[in-house]
This record gives sequence, C-alpha cells and structure tokens, in this order.
Amino acid sequence: MKIALISPPASGKGTQAKWISRKFDIPRISTGAMLRKHVADRTEVGMLAQEDMNQGKLVSDDIVIKMMEARLRKEDCKNGFLLDGYPRTMRQARALESTEVPDVVLYLEVGDEEIVRRMSGRRVCPNCEAVYHIINDPPESEDVCDKCGSKLIIREDDKEETVRKRLEVFKEETSPLVSFYTEKGILRRVEASGSIEETRNNAERALEQLGNL
Ligand code: ADP
Repeated sequence: MKIALISPPASGKGTQAKWISRKFDIPRISTGAMLRKHVADRTEVGMLAQEDMNQGKLVSDDIVIKMMEARLRKEDCKNGFLLDGYPRTMRQARALESTEVPDVVLYLEVGDEEIVRRMSGRRVCPNCEAVYHIINDPPESEDVCDKCGSKLIIREDDKEETVRKRLEVFKEETSPLVSFYTEKGILRRVEASGSIEETRNNAERALEQLGNL
C-alpha cells in the first residue's frame, strides 16, 4: 500500500502516521524529520534547509525531490510506504507521479484557529522526536520526554507567527494538491478537528472503504 498524507501544519499528521505505518507494515517517511536530521547533522542539505524551515517556508523543491527520490529507491519501500509530508507542492506531486503513484492520499482537514490553538501547546523531544501536547497529551512529568528523559522544547517553527506563515504557505502551495488528487479519484478527506481517537476512527473508515473499491 502506498499512502500519502496531506494536511495543514499541526493537524495531527505525525500522530496518525504512526498507527497507519504499523497497521500496513510500511515505513513512515517523514520529510520534516529527515530535514531536521540533516540540520542537526549539519549536512549540506541541512545548511540549505535550515533558514527556510525556521521561517515556516518550504524547503526548495530541488532539494526535497532529490532527497525523496533517493529515499524511495531503498529496499524497505518495495512493499509500499507512508509519505508523511510529501508531496507538498505541485512540482513535488508531478515528480512523484513519474516514479511512485500513491494508491490513496489522505487529506486531514482542520480549521485555522484550531491549528493555532493546538500548536501553542505542542512540545517536542529534540532527541527522539516524540511529540506531546500540554493539554491533550501531556508527558508524565512536566517538560520531560517519557521515552528518553530529554528536556522537551517548543520547536522553532511552532511559534504563533511562524504557524500563521506555515498556514499561508499550505494554502498557496499545498492545497492545489487536493484538487489534483481529487481529479485522479484517490483523495480521501478525513475530518481531523476532533480528538486523536476521533481522527483515527475517521481515517480508519476512509482506509476501509478503500478495500471495498
Ligand atoms: P508539520 O507537519 O507540522 O508542518 P513537518 O515536520 O512535516 O511539520 O515539516 C517541517 C518543515 O520541514 C516544513 O515547514 C518545511 O519547511 C519542511 N518540509 C517538510 N516537508 C517538506 C516538503 N515536502 N517540501 C518542502 N519543505 C518541506
């Protein structure tokens, strides 16, 4: 199964991506996590990506497309994959068409104000990338990662102003993909403004319907 997730920032994409990847036994490929690793490792790609990421802009298509083409050639993608954060522009979508067409594209839908509200409570572990929310999904002890004990941080691009910028970028660059994949008949809308469980149920229903096609 080849699945791609499209969603505005902080729609809970990462949280949903985890169980989808387990359920279908396919690797989760998060472009955001890959890029953050490049930044942390100070690679050439990281150096080029860092500023755009901190400002809530997209990293250039050339960099991301090249990175993903290499990733999708790896052995673990033979039986499918879950793309978490790719494609995000029409150019990326076209590049993907020429190699690996997704079977289904899930579009997680959340309203703007809900997104900004969620982002302000988000905390992430700089070490293992675990994600928490101070109200919806808090760690056992305040500001400490349950999994590895590191001190949690607010991601640079989760600050309110940057979130608004990311939303704007989403509308301009990524939302055209919704019509693109609708026309291809592979887009499934998933209502994602409720709780994690509600969103999961909605996404499961969308994926089950797929089996009956
Ligand atoms: P979120 O899902 O919360 O928006 P991600 O972790 O997916 O966050 O992405 C973080 C940042 O990484 C983006 O704001 C962008 O700068 C960069 N990025 C991730 N995926 C892509 C992509 N496909 N194309 C360009 N930039 C990307």
